[in-house]
Amino acid sequence: ESALSIQGLTKVYGNGFHALRGIDLEVAQGDFFALLGPNGAGKSTTLGVVCSLVQKTAGQVKVFGIDIDKDFAKAKYNIGVVPQEFNFNQFEKVEDIILTQAGYYGMRMKEAKPRAQSLLKDLGLWDKRKGSARMLSGGMKRRLMIARALMHRPRLLILDEPTAGVDIELRRSMWDYLRRINREEGTTIILTTHYLEEAESLCRNIAIINHGDIVKNTSVRGLLAEL
Ligand code: ADP
Ligand code: ADP
Repeated sequence: ESALSIQGLTKVYGNGFHALRGIDLEVAQGDFFALLGPNGAGKSTTLGVVCSLVQKTAGQVKVFGIDIDKDFAKAKYNIGVVPQEFNFNQFEKVEDIILTQAGYYGMRMKEAKPRAQSLLKDLGLWDKRKGSARMLSGGMKRRLMIARALMHRPRLLILDEPTAGVDIELRRSMWDYLRRINREEGTTIILTTHYLEEAESLCRNIAIINHGDIVKNTSVRGLLAEL
C-alpha cells in the first residue's frame, strides 16, 4: 500500500481557473519524493488537497490506504505538514507552539514533553524554547514548523518549499536532518520545490508538474540519465 495515492485529481478554483487537470501520483512508503515545477504549476494546490486545506473538484486521494473523503480525521494522524508560510502565533513561546500541537493530536504531556525536547534539540531550537517565536530567524522559524509537524510522529511528512528563502548553510543542515528521519525513522517525505538541485540532492523519485499536469514521473537517477 502506498503512502500517498492520488487518482484523477482535478481542481478548478472558484474563479474558473483549472489548477489541476486530473493528475495521478503514487508515493511509496519510505520514499523521499519531490514534486518539482515552476511557480503556479499546481504544487501547493496538490498538497493542499492532501491536507484537506483545499477542496478538490474531482478525484481520489488515499493516505496509507485511507480515503481522505471517507475518514480525514484518521488520515490526518499519519500526516505532518510544513506549510510555505509561517502560520504560528509569533507571540507564543517556541515550546508552547510545539506542545499545543501535541494537544491537537491527543498526546499526553508525559509523552509530549520528551518528544518536544528531542525535536527542539535535534533542530537546534533548544536554547530558544522559552522565547517568543517572533525572535527566531527565518530559518529557525522554518525548523520550528518542522518540529511541530513531527510532534505526533506522522508516517508522512509533507513540506511545501521547505528551503525557500533559507541560506545555503542552513539549507544543507535542513537537508541532512530530513535525510536522517527518512533513513532512520522510515518517515516518507514529500516536498515541493522549484530547484532541480534540491530534488536531485535529496529525493529518490520525482514528479514534474506544469500547468496542472504531471509531465514526468520517474526516479531522480533516471531523470539525470536523460539530461
Ligand atoms: P475555492 O474555489 O477553493 O473555494 P476560491 O476561488 O474561492 O477557492 O478562492 C479562495 C481565496 O483565494 C479567495 O479569497 C480568492 O480571492 C483567493 N485567490 C484568488 N485567486 C488567487 C490566486 N491566483 N492565487 C492565490 N489566491 C487566490
Ligand atoms: P505552485 O505551488 O506550483 O506555485 P499553486 O498550486 O499555488 O502553484 O497554484 C496553481 C495555480 O492556481 C496558480 O496559477 C495560482 O495562481 C492558482 N491559484 C491558487 N490558489 C488559487 C485560488 N484560491 N483561486 C484561484 N486561483 C488560484
